[in-house]
Amino acid sequence: MGKLVENIMEKVVEDKLNQMLPSLNCCTCNICKTDIMCYALNRIKPKYVSTDQGALLSRVDSVSITYGTAVMTEIAAGVEIVRKNPHHN
Ligand SMILES: [Zn+2]
Repeated sequence: MGKLVENIMEKVVEDKLNQMLPSLNCCTCNICKTDIMCYALNRIKPKYVSTDQGALLSRVDSVSITYGTAVMTEIAAGVEIVRKNPHHN
């Protein structure tokens, strides 16, 4: 049985991070991406939705528009932290 609910912010943060990364002067490996996502997600209020397939995808866009600025602020802050303290060399 799959998950019944999902924190839609995980998808919103991941999408925004992928959009922002090319213009950020930051390592883009999976370790750093995951660290940045964790940083941002721990500071953004989670938004749980039922995992009904189509509904989920359409919600990502509207949530992304509503919370986009807050998400980008936290991602930018996470990038600063990870850039100074990457979990690798
Ligand atoms: Zn890295």
